[in-house]
Amino acid sequence: MWEQSEWDLVETEVVVVGGGYAGLAAALQLHDQGVDFVLVEASDRVGGRVLTETLDSGTGGAAVTVDHGGQWVGPTQTRLRALADRFGCATFPTWETGKHIEVWHDGTGVPYLGAAPADGPGIADYHRVTELLDALALTVDTAEPWRTPRCAEWDAQTAESFFRAQTSDPDALRRLALAVQGVWCAEPYEISLFHVLFYIAAAGGYEQLMETRDCAQDSRFVTGAAGPARAVAELLGDRVRLGTRALSVEHDADGVRVHTAGTVYEARRAVIALPPPAVRTLRFTPELPAARDGWLAHSPMGRVAKIHAVYETPFWRDAGLSGIATLYDDGPLGVVFDNSPHDAAHGVLVGFVYGDRLSAWSDLDAAGRRDAALASLGSVVGDRAARPLAYTEKIWSEDPYARGGYEAYVTPGGWTGYGRSGWRTSTGTLHWAGTETASVWNGYIDGALSSGRRAADEVVAALQASVAEG
Ligand SMILES: Cc1cc2nc3c(=O)[nH]c(=O)nc-3n(C[C@H](O)[C@H](O)[C@H](O)COP(=O)(O)OP(=O)(O)OC[C@H]3O[C@@H](n4cnc5c(N)ncnc54)[C@H](O)[C@@H]3O)c2cc1C
Repeated sequence: MWEQSEWDLVETEVVVVGGGYAGLAAALQLHDQGVDFVLVEASDRVGGRVLTETLDSGTGGAAVTVDHGGQWVGPTQTRLRALADRFGCATFPTWETGKHIEVWHDGTGVPYLGAAPADGPGIADYHRVTELLDALALTVDTAEPWRTPRCAEWDAQTAESFFRAQTSDPDALRRLALAVQGVWCAEPYEISLFHVLFYIAAAGGYEQLMETRDCAQDSRFVTGAAGPARAVAELLGDRVRLGTRALSVEHDADGVRVHTAGTVYEARRAVIALPPPAVRTLRFTPELPAARDGWLAHSPMGRVAKIHAVYETPFWRDAGLSGIATLYDDGPLGVVFDNSPHDAAHGVLVGFVYGDRLSAWSDLDAAGRRDAALASLGSVVGDRAARPLAYTEKIWSEDPYARGGYEAYVTPGGWTGYGRSGWRTSTGTLHWAGTETASVWNGYIDGALSSGRRAADEVVAALQASVAEG
């Protein structure tokens, strides 16, 4: 098919590029259907944007498991739940008992009970605008988004321009901005309004994205969210090649060659299960079609870091606090949760740094970042926050393979100009997976799983069709 070279050659039916949940789901589907494959993963672990780490708690006592990336699972995320059940990975409800706190832009901490504050600055307009978002999202076609009647009109706007047309209340605008940061890790001025509506529709409504109980933040994994990924990799055995970065891809109607350092994987089809910016680091021969390339160019990653602070106990619970907070002040953290283990053997707080706040905070040195993050936690749970047993952080924008998180969002014009054939339509023998290609729970682990299965199903159908053609 191609010229022989000095590289080792591995022949298989399908090569899967990327060992995050999308690539693993594709590989598992191929495995379950008896199709031969090899999965190449650049890093030395599977899971991608799901990264579970076991830390020394600092007391010489029990270790603490933290999830630097994806961690929560909700009840309508049925694919992830089913995968976890298949491999016996237990979950437990996110801790939300007690008073939550809003730290307002002047630094005032305002406690409240229930899923959301009943009143407060900007709350009425915030609710009015988010109800409007929900209503507009109901008209979105999540399978073929470009068919949505007002797609082009909404895709020509940013979320920011839409919000400003709806309200001039600065406090409502602050609430809306934090919502966009918290869900997309982007600023409202960066993201297409249509993409916001698509994403809400793909999750089943705005509340599903935002809330904890019965929503996206409902539960966590007892042994970390990478548990199911590790179990899949163990089942697939040596067909998962870690430390094997795809560098370039040759493709034509007869098949695919994926080049890595020293080895070429030759297959009839490939599933490329990478975040959009990672796809752009590969060299394709021939070049990708203009629509696919334009789509990728309109899909930057969100900007996010997660910090964890470990304490001897979840002491804030004794003070009647849940540990859940939203912060509108000058500190780095936008959202805080109680991330203690299921048995509360330690207290753990997790904080998220998003968007413009991440850009400023990540310029600090390590000590400066830690001090600023702990000061933010202090405004939520008090002075004891400054003295953790352990502190850790993960700046996803600096991860060489993910290049950001939680996911790629779409900038204005992306859906209109490139969506129809650039979003996830296969390119000859190349099939596209990754959470960014999902119609349900786009951006989430569950979306990654459905995308991988869809791509594997495309491959199996294509292989069967070629057998039928003789
Ligand atoms: C901070 C953070 C918090 C999040 N919170 C949640 C949450 O609570 N719940 C939830 O459902 N989702 C959450 N997400 C999103 C979720 O983690 C992702 O949607 C999901 O993991 C994406 O899976 P994927 O397989 O599509 O992509 P990835 O996980 O990015 O997988 C791609 C894989 O490809 C590999 N790779 C890259 N380049 C190459 C190459 N050239 N050759 C070979 N391999 C390569 C990468 O190393 C990686 O393993 C969060 C994400 C982040 C970052």
